Amino acid sequence: QNTLLKVDNLKKFFRKSSGSLKKATQIKAVDDISFEVYEGETLGIVGESGCGKSTTGRMIMRLLEPTDGTISFDGEELSKLPKKVMRKKRRDIQMVFQDPYASLNPRHTVKKILEEPLIVHGIGHAKDRKELVEEFLDIVGLSPYHAKRYPHQFSGGQRQRIGIARALMTNPKLIIADEPVSALDVSIQAQVLNLMQRLQNDLRLTYIFIAHDLGVVRHISDRVAVMYLGRIVELADSESLYTEPLHPYTKALLSAVPIPDPTVEREKMILMGDITNAIPDRGCKFQSRCPYSTITCKMIAPNLEEVKPGHSVACHLYSTD
Ligand code: SF4
Ligand code: MG
Repeated sequence: QNTLLKVDNLKKFFRKSSGSLKKATQIKAVDDISFEVYEGETLGIVGESGCGKSTTGRMIMRLLEPTDGTISFDGEELSKLPKKVMRKKRRDIQMVFQDPYASLNPRHTVKKILEEPLIVHGIGHAKDRKELVEEFLDIVGLSPYHAKRYPHQFSGGQRQRIGIARALMTNPKLIIADEPVSALDVSIQAQVLNLMQRLQNDLRLTYIFIAHDLGVVRHISDRVAVMYLGRIVELADSESLYTEPLHPYTKALLSAVPIPDPTVEREKMILMGDITNAIPDRGCKFQSRCPYSTITCKMIAPNLEEVKPGHSVACHLYSTD
């Protein structure tokens, strides 16, 4: 397996002023995460809002500068590239957004929207561009005549198809899809997920698929990383994660997802409190919501450790030392 993307010790800290004295507090939106994405796979990144999953995606795109850490893509260190060179790199890494309506310019026709990345990256002449637009409309299941229309003339699902077509125009290697189906009806979600899966096979794409719900990423992901308050708490291949979740947080998330296979018995776990509970300044970030929390958990933050082949967890319950 070739590694396409390698993220090491990535951090993003924000300063936030609060209270009448405007005391600055530090928000660790992404707090030292490392992972790899293999060529041709889909890595799902899952967690509640505020867990740092979108921030991670935006740092890979360099839409946000990391506080610390490295991001290497196709053997090249992205965080060190000058802005201008990085802009060119975006040809290889594209993003699909949650709300296609907000991300598509309402005053532009579909043709103009899809042509834009080609113009930005200097791909093709006007005539080639017209052909490419029609080709990609077809690839995502729309028709050439849709090129003349405006975003508001489409349904939510069709708009997301346009968003996907736009991401594909530059022939990227990696697509970061940030909750691409969260805003769609359940029936439409399946269609868009199927389309993305077909495109992945046909165009040999690699995906990072961000979602807040483990159910959504189950079928599309080869591996899944579960994030909690800026940390990866569990990372495993999908099969292993869904049938034998290890981290108490993953277990809690999965308790809410119906199990299609009745032979699988899953421990039921209810989350205590919510993510807005005071964030502990040391120890495991999950301690206030975890029924297994011990004194060790309050003192020492667990590291992500591989406990069986391809399955890593950050929890003292599984610590080997
Ligand atoms: Fe719970 Fe402790 Fe594991 Fe954190 S390290 S998830 S508090 S058992
Ligand atoms: Mg988000």
